[in-house]
Amino acid sequence: MVQEFEERFAARCGVKHAIAVNSATAALHLALEAYNIGPGDEVVVPTYTFAACGEVIAYLGAKIVLSDVDEDYLLATCESSERTKAVMPVHFAGRVVNIKAPVPIIEDAAHCIPGPLRGQAAAYSFYATKTLTTGEGGMLVTDDDGIAARARRMRLHGIDADAWNRYGPGNKWAYQIGDAGFKYNLTDIAAAIGIVQLERQAELLAKRMTIAARYKLGLADVVGLPPESESWHLFVIKTPHRDRVVQTLALAGIGASVHFIPLHLHPYYRRLGYQEGDFPVAERLFAESVSLPIWPDMTDDEVEAVIATVKEAA
Ligand SMILES: *Cc1c(COP(=O)(O)O)cnc(C)c1O
Repeated sequence: MVQEFEERFAARCGVKHAIAVNSATAALHLALEAYNIGPGDEVVVPTYTFAACGEVIAYLGAKIVLSDVDEDYLLATCESSERTKAVMPVHFAGRVVNIKAPVPIIEDAAHCIPGPLRGQAAAYSFYATKTLTTGEGGMLVTDDDGIAARARRMRLHGIDADAWNRYGPGNKWAYQIGDAGFKYNLTDIAAAIGIVQLERQAELLAKRMTIAARYKLGLADVVGLPPESESWHLFVIKTPHRDRVVQTLALAGIGASVHFIPLHLHPYYRRLGYQEGDFPVAERLFAESVSLPIWPDMTDDEVEAVIATVKEAA
């Protein structure tokens, strides 16, 4: 099941290799590891992102270099130094970042639907809330044979099954540990769900697009609206009344959220030396952003209720 899911996913993306793992976090970690990132190296990541992007850099003992974003929440520039060894742009809410860098670009594609590779490697998430879900899961995609081979081996304990002819008659027991790897493999059960989810992507996306279009129509003069997205994983509005909108929605029984609390505002990053004021655009966006509910099975009435409640609050 895992092999079939990988083959179908690679074909959908038009890439040579798809390596199934148990989270996007694992995929990002394996990609950085395969590019030999380690102590003394620096990796650039936008501050406006989820915890996963920073922690994987720390796993490898490298330095997390945060960067500000543009008005669309995307990494705008990549200031690199001699020590910069990779850049991890985040396609926030399914909006594709086009960035050039003199070092490998490892895309956080957690908000994307399977599509073309823009950098050297990309990590997809199949977490419960994502556009394609397996409950928990992820995929690393790349066209690089060496990176793929390394990630494949490190995904499962650094075991090199090919070094011994493990699948030859009577040799099923044989294996060789080449490095201290990780326990990052996807289960066949999750892959079976992923295969069906992959088949349903166009249908699910169409539903999300319909909801996004309704939101745009209903909220045009009320709040700041998001630009086009290839996935509509999130529908993030901008309003000076963030907390009131979230609270009013909550009182109406509607769950809304805020994506994301910029990394540099968290205690861990403060201990690394970052502080409030470091990334003014990210801080302003955070203060005014609300993620409205958007999922394929939302009914028209539910969408209208969200619109009415946001109007009332904003
Ligand atoms: C969900 C998410 C991740 C992590 O995905 P997991 O599969 O839960 O590891 C990483 N980056 C972003 C931007 C995300 O939204």
